[in-house]
Amino acid sequence: MRRKLAAGNWKMNGLRAGLSEMEALAQRHPDPRVDILLCPPATLIAPAAQALSGSRIALGGQDCHAETSGAYTGDLSAGMLLDAGAGAVILGHSERRALHRETSEEVRVKARTAQAAGLTTVICLGESAFQREATNTLDIIGAQLSLSVPDGSTGVNLVVAYEPVWAIGSGKTPTPGEIGEVHTFIRARLESRFGPGVGRSVRLLYGGSVKGDNAAEIFAIPDVDGALVGGASLTAADFSPIVEAL
Ligand code: 13P
Repeated sequence: MRRKLAAGNWKMNGLRAGLSEMEALAQRHPDPRVDILLCPPATLIAPAAQALSGSRIALGGQDCHAETSGAYTGDLSAGMLLDAGAGAVILGHSERRALHRETSEEVRVKARTAQAAGLTTVICLGESAFQREATNTLDIIGAQLSLSVPDGSTGVNLVVAYEPVWAIGSGKTPTPGEIGEVHTFIRARLESRFGPGVGRSVRLLYGGSVKGDNAAEIFAIPDVDGALVGGASLTAADFSPIVEAL
């Protein structure tokens, strides 16, 4: 059985004052039935690890470098995230693919390094609005999936997040049928590449305008094992209903 996962991506939001929201979330969910992962800006990982010690909330980064160390001014290694208290890292988010021109090949190399360091990689895939209209979404997702996910991935070190670019921060979501089609496709691809045991153990998250009022409908879709939440993960009041809907 795959354990459900509610993951929050704070993106470039959050100062130390935001730690109180994490603490409030931990207080609301002292013994959650599901896994909770918060990915704040890197500056908050170490203080968050301290603030949340003894809680069941795990922490993650939002990106890391493909190399383990070296002359890469401004970058962070997987080992640094781990050292700060993270157990996971988001890789290949569409904002990094678009704004930092990250390719699926680069995402795969980063993921290999992060997995080797002991982090769980949350690898993001998603089509743009143009791609959904102009091409077959499943072809786009299939190509991103095979190129971005490294060999050796398992249900422990890999989570896949399907985030249609046009649904992020827009208030728009695909229909349950459209989400289900993509998730079933990703599951089938993972099973054929890694075998049924590993393929069935990888958790698949949906991301893009998940809120308290649409979470239950999204979580009822087969092969949706949780959500990667942006805006609605920033406060305990908004994120808690999503955790409860899982
Ligand atoms: P929103 O939940 O704000 O749409 O963001 C989704 C996202 O990009 C999470 O990684």
